Amino acid sequence: MLREGRTPPDKTAPDVFDSRRSLVEAERCLYCFDAPCTSACPVHIDIPGFIAMIRSGNVRGAAWLVRSANALADTCGRVCPSEVYCQPACARAKQDAPVRIRELHLFATRSERRREFHVETASRTGKNVAVVGGGPAGLGCAFELAKLGHTVDLYNDGPPGGVPLKSIPPFRLPEEDLLHDTGILGRFFTAHDGTLDGLEFSSIAGSHDAVFVALGLGRDRPLGIPGEDLESVFPVLPFLETAKKRPHTLRIGSRVIVVGGGNVSLDAAATARRLGAAEVTLLYRRGERQMLVWSAELGEARRLGVEFRFLAVPLEILGTGRVEGVRCRSMRLSADSDDSGRPVPAEVPGSDFLLPADSVIVAIGQDVRAGWLTGLTRTKKGYIRVDGQFQTSMPGVFAGGDSASGEGTVVRSLADGKEAAHAMHGYIMRRG
Ligand SMILES: Cc1cc2nc3c(=O)[nH]c(=O)nc-3n(C[C@H](O)[C@H](O)[C@H](O)COP(=O)(O)OP(=O)(O)OC[C@H]3O[C@@H](n4cnc5c(N)ncnc54)[C@H](O)[C@@H]3O)c2cc1C
Ligand code: SF4
Repeated sequence: MLREGRTPPDKTAPDVFDSRRSLVEAERCLYCFDAPCTSACPVHIDIPGFIAMIRSGNVRGAAWLVRSANALADTCGRVCPSEVYCQPACARAKQDAPVRIRELHLFATRSERRREFHVETASRTGKNVAVVGGGPAGLGCAFELAKLGHTVDLYNDGPPGGVPLKSIPPFRLPEEDLLHDTGILGRFFTAHDGTLDGLEFSSIAGSHDAVFVALGLGRDRPLGIPGEDLESVFPVLPFLETAKKRPHTLRIGSRVIVVGGGNVSLDAAATARRLGAAEVTLLYRRGERQMLVWSAELGEARRLGVEFRFLAVPLEILGTGRVEGVRCRSMRLSADSDDSGRPVPAEVPGSDFLLPADSVIVAIGQDVRAGWLTGLTRTKKGYIRVDGQFQTSMPGVFAGGDSASGEGTVVRSLADGKEAAHAMHGYIMRRG
């Protein structure tokens, strides 16, 4: 049941541990000799190492260990999916519950916030490297390149931060945590603000020893149905961006339909509820089991009273000027599977129904927004094609993060940037 007209209270994302709770949690670590958690963490933080430091009272050392491996340490302490990487790998999970690694590293880095972070960099190489895109992948790469002794220019349209800055809702990622991370990183590169085009890109490529491209997925896929141009139809990325920066300018009304079945659609639904929408309905063409979502986010959307209509697609958005409703059709799961291994949904003839709505948020996925990037070979899905060393089809140009591998995570993009930096270092130094 939906709770009419009442905006649910904010719930902050992961618990922030105090020192007593951190000590108790650190005591639970088994210090496995092979540290499966460290292997499962994409940026390979020395997890048993930093937990041992917390246990012995060396919080400063713990924070250093985390931050020197993870360029967005506080951000990951907030938004790393606890059910995907380090925690499911924790040996303690077999006994009772995994160690709360994410909360422990957030405790360490936040506790040391007032102290300056210092990391040794290699002696200067005299090489200049460009990073295009200032999201997690670009920042991870820039940080690592600077540690390797290179001079780094970072190009981004606006302040660095990427999706975490623009779109991850503040009830999951407090801005101060991200800004603390990016504030530290700012010391490792020269930031250039502006939207790049093909001409500028060629000039950057020509004036640097190597380039890393990490433009993310900035273009929302449209539904391609009649009525999509009505005033209160919102593509999800600008919707979340406006909800963060100027929520008072958004007129979503009281009945909102979100179309999509991923984590981003859950963020949109939770945001719409928090903006005061009385009824938020998520429309998904497959069933709940086929959703590609983290269970914590799904549970949170349910807690907020988001309603789910599974096995349904929108056919037409109705209204004059603003949205008044959506004509939908029921679906069934067919016996065929698609590339993702999930059953292909098929329409059920004669099953159309109408849902009243004041606005529609479209969250069915994103593509690379870089029509100007013509010189690089793309994959079938339009991502930038790279080899195992993050090298694109253009010598000296490397790529990573979501624009090369599709929808990912903050820590996976950071890891791409970090690994690509080492590949670029090898390439630059071999050329002399
Ligand atoms: C709503 C939402 C919620 C998410 N929640 C989570 C979460 O909770 N946990 C998690 O781990 N992951 C989450 N993700 C995924 C995660 O944010 C991405 O995987 C990650 O940000 C990708 O990093 P990136 O550096 O590849 O790209 P981006 O973060 O997209 O950064 C790319 C940067 O390049 C810039 N850029 C693009 N074109 C140009 C140009 N022409 N000129 C100059 N600059 C340009 C962009 O403005 C941007 O700053 C979420 C994603 C979304 C959309
Ligand atoms: S960055 Fe993510 S995967 Fe790595 S230790 Fe922290 S919470 Fe775990």
